[in-house]
Amino acid sequence: MDVLNKMANRGHEQVAMYSDPASGLRGIIAIHDTTLGPACGGTRMWPYATEADALADALNLSQAMTYKSAAAGLNLGGGKGVIIGNPRTDKTEALLRAWGRFVDTLGGRYLTTTDVGTTGRDLETVHQETEHVVGLDLTLGGSGDTSIMTGLGIYMGMRACAADVWGADCLRGRTVAMQGFGKVASRTAEHLLDDDVRVIAADVSETALDRARQMGVQVVAPDDIYDVDCDIFAPCALGGVINAKTIDRLRCRIVAGGANNQLATPEDGEELHRRGIIYAPDFLINAGGIINAAAEIGQPYNPERSRQQTERIYEQMSAVLTTAHEKEIATARAADMLAEARLAEVRRVRQIWRS
Ligand code: NAD
Repeated sequence: MDVLNKMANRGHEQVAMYSDPASGLRGIIAIHDTTLGPACGGTRMWPYATEADALADALNLSQAMTYKSAAAGLNLGGGKGVIIGNPRTDKTEALLRAWGRFVDTLGGRYLTTTDVGTTGRDLETVHQETEHVVGLDLTLGGSGDTSIMTGLGIYMGMRACAADVWGADCLRGRTVAMQGFGKVASRTAEHLLDDDVRVIAADVSETALDRARQMGVQVVAPDDIYDVDCDIFAPCALGGVINAKTIDRLRCRIVAGGANNQLATPEDGEELHRRGIIYAPDFLINAGGIINAAAEIGQPYNPERSRQQTERIYEQMSAVLTTAHEKEIATARAADMLAEARLAEVRRVRQIWRS
């Protein structure tokens, strides 16, 4: 799989692989950068077709976590865990405990939480074997479900984009098309529906679609979501969905959603820019969850502080839009520059004090 070259290309510090045949666990933890603090990122469980696919996802997602925490002003690095398997059929207590043992071997260099395919209850099982978890239930002294703040942050990011495109940050009467209606999308939709926004969603899960219908959300077939005539297209399922094949189909002014790594390639961010579609960089507007989780590290969790910090995503998105306009660059590039500048500054300060 040429792992070391792949790591070197984007500055990954560490990749650890773990196999526990007895429980069926096959997993990878990628640590991208710990300049700002311990690597933090959720554990994803997904039936990857190949080990190479799982590794690629871990490398991409861990790098995105570095950028996310850096841009959000958090003292956390970027990491991600992936478990190869079907969360519906392969998840057992033994597998999750084995995962906890694996996380524990890294001694706190990596802190895990939930992601696609893992739930708060799964995290409690992982926690039986390691202290290095964040986002446990409030009743266990944790900061609780990350998707609540993630949804709030996405909503704030959408409003900042609306102010840029339409001159007012009110979303009333707008149409938002959501790809995926899981935890993050439904939390985002709560804010949108409160504002009388028309929400249209697609999902591959009947449970998710039932939840959508109960909330008053219109449902379309998964592949039709790209063609929906809307103001905002919100990818809230998996990554890579903004690509050469889908961009042509988009009928929106803004792309703003919760999924990580929405752009298949950096060129797709440039293409949106050329077409005058404002892209809200995913790691910038979906940072509410990590902001919330970070609020429980080293101090008692305070939901109000977490909310205030998440609401600042509005100003961060506005600042990225201003930079993008001034420099005539894509918003994705402007957000990368913001994160890279903070990482470079902290590295520079550390080097001065080391020499
Ligand atoms: P989730 O598993 O609750 O929801 C994902 C939904 O997408 C599911 O309902 C699933 O059925 C659906 N889906 C999968 N493939 C699809 C397809 N091809 N078309 C339509 N729907 C499809 O996960 P989540 O926690 O809501 O996370 C969603 C995205 O947001 C992920 O990319 C995740 O990494 C990202 N994210 C989550 C958080 C968080 O706090 N949970 C924070 C930041 C980013």
